[in-house]
Amino acid sequence: WHRWIYDDYYRSYLLPLEKYGLTIPHDLVEEAWKRIVDKGYVHEVARFFATGWPVNYWRIDAMTDKDFEWFEDKYPGWYSKYGKWWENYNRLAYPGRNKPIAFEDVGYQYPHRCWTCMVPALIREDMVVEKVDDQWRTYCSETCYWTDAVAFRGEYDGRPTPNMGRLTGFREWETLHHGKDLADIVSDLGYVRDDGKTLIA
Ligand SMILES: [Zn+2]
Repeated sequence: WHRWIYDDYYRSYLLPLEKYGLTIPHDLVEEAWKRIVDKGYVHEVARFFATGWPVNYWRIDAMTDKDFEWFEDKYPGWYSKYGKWWENYNRLAYPGRNKPIAFEDVGYQYPHRCWTCMVPALIREDMVVEKVDDQWRTYCSETCYWTDAVAFRGEYDGRPTPNMGRLTGFREWETLHHGKDLADIVSDLGYVRDDGKTLIA
């Protein structure tokens, strides 16, 4: 992770942009590192997408004892935080015996989605809830809030920005499919093959 954030991303991509006059938010690089290493971001993301497997086109396999050991070895303390959930994921891996894990009670609180990056707000202490464009929105971080509320606007820093992107429309999966039956969502997404089966079952 260190090499990826500091060498690949920061030194070989972000820093060279400085000589073209761009302002590089150096402190955010440190924060990106902290999110991954101290705040468990990658583990939270993995658990979230594993929770939603019925509406993905892929499904992570249940973990073996070797996998559990690998995670605990690489990320000391991992098991006490995420192990129980992945044990449940293994236990609930058999179609017909149980519902998909998203619909079983395993003590997992489905998170709010970030309006800007569309990954859920998975780090509780970083989450921002603000009314923007007359709508209550949730953001995973101050940075994502800033992107929507300050940067991606018709004007930035007193200058008009006609070519800037806008974060509008049905941005979150949850809003787009709200109130629909899961079977209809899966078929609307085009996940049913010609033989009537889905990609994951
Ligand atoms: Zn975000």
